[in-house]
Amino acid sequence: MRRIEHIYIDGRFATPHGEEWFDLFNPATEQVIGQVRLADAEDACLAIDAARRALPAMARTGVDERLDMLGRMQAAMERHHDELLEAVRVEYGAPYSRSTWMTRFASDVIGQAMTALRGFAFEQQAGSARVLLQPVGVAGLITPWNSDAGFICGKLAMALAAGCTAVIKPSEMSAWQTEVVARALHEAQLPPGVFNIVTGRGEVVGAAIASSPHVAKISFTGSGMVGKAILRASADTLKRVTLELGGKSPSIVLDDADPATVVPQLVAAGFINSGQACIAGTRILVPAARLAEYEAAIAAEVAKTRSGDPADPDTAIGPMVSARQWERVQRYIRTGLEEGARLLAGGEGRPDGMTRGWCVRPTVFTDVRSDMTIAREEIFGPVLCVLPYRDEEEAIALANDTAYGLNAWVFTADTARGQALAARIESGRVLVNTLAHEPQAPFGGMKQSGLGRENGRWGLESFLEAKTVLVG
Ligand code: NAD
Repeated sequence: MRRIEHIYIDGRFATPHGEEWFDLFNPATEQVIGQVRLADAEDACLAIDAARRALPAMARTGVDERLDMLGRMQAAMERHHDELLEAVRVEYGAPYSRSTWMTRFASDVIGQAMTALRGFAFEQQAGSARVLLQPVGVAGLITPWNSDAGFICGKLAMALAAGCTAVIKPSEMSAWQTEVVARALHEAQLPPGVFNIVTGRGEVVGAAIASSPHVAKISFTGSGMVGKAILRASADTLKRVTLELGGKSPSIVLDDADPATVVPQLVAAGFINSGQACIAGTRILVPAARLAEYEAAIAAEVAKTRSGDPADPDTAIGPMVSARQWERVQRYIRTGLEEGARLLAGGEGRPDGMTRGWCVRPTVFTDVRSDMTIAREEIFGPVLCVLPYRDEEEAIALANDTAYGLNAWVFTADTARGQALAARIESGRVLVNTLAHEPQAPFGGMKQSGLGRENGRWGLESFLEAKTVLVG
């Protein structure tokens, strides 16, 4: 049994003032694997105070000094690779290929912030004025459980690149992964208070950070409901807020696409991160004239997709992170059936032969209308919808018929046609014929998928304030 009893404040591991213990689970076995002692609002205040004290010196550091800090952080994360990989596998349940990617990503993302920092002009000319881009202040970084280390390292690296200091509030469900990150980053020997980590409940520690007058900026990744609560809590002190929220991403298959090439990508995009991904392509839009052909090809591809033990190298979809998340996915599958959608693959319950573990049968519905709950709400599990469209205009209308706008895919034999269509989709990112990610490009959502952008120079700017200096 793992006992995590320290938070990280002012360059030291400290016992929290909070006294609540929270169980940590292995989602593949449903067993309790550890406990974490949670921070409370008083701990959040201590962390914010430490970040405030460290801010003036951090804000004055130059680019080279920041690059040196980030380089030490990246090297430290790399040294802890194997430990983090184990925590990602056991505590989160990510299957082999995903867990190795997620572990690497935690150090890669620091390198990506370094790239953004190297090319950035902190002083710019605007007409007769000098414009200074200066750190916004203490940043509150609030992260979810579906890529704990990657989100912590990505947000922190960008905040530090800008010269801010940070208070990090990770998900309480990823405390083991966070503990590995904290030990690694401690080895990077950053000045005390530059970053602080307070794992605790969102409505306690997260809310204290969001309402603190001493926090200038919140960068949040998580659900829309919590994102809106943070925005409201931030209003009184007019914090700068970046929100990365959910999605219901369309994958549009044009009539010239080749099903043999496209279908494996559709299924991979839909089931990415075991379906627990904000970007997942969960609405598959296919030409009505070729619906039967796509239904058969998708069903055959899903039949080859194994959901189960994350330790098995053949597993593509691991368990849901918690019993609550498993039940939520089951509820959506029942709702799909009740609303008249037809199952093409999967359904309720665990995959065949499994009696424990929060695994879901990879599920695809067809005969789905855009007004059905399963086509509108983010399920955050391996459940996909197939929707037919008559012509390109209807495909665009269906793609945009959502409150979300984070990510979209277009599959076509004609990339120029795909790019023209991309311009008309209400989404922060459109990927044409690729599942690849460009870390220097802005990432974030339109509509209710979020506010602001992360990554590259846009991510760096989100931690900066522009100051105009005019000399007469
Ligand atoms: P969540 O919103 O429940 O929690 C996210 C974080 O916010 C956690 O650390 C939580 O403790 C904290 N929190 C909860 N209540 C709070 C409050 N009142 N004030 C401040 N903080 C609070 O989300 P989750 O269940 O951890 O993650 C899943 C959600 O995250 C999904 O909706 C998914 O789409 C979204 N997500 C978005 C992106 C993106 O980049 N757009 C990436 C991954 C996940």
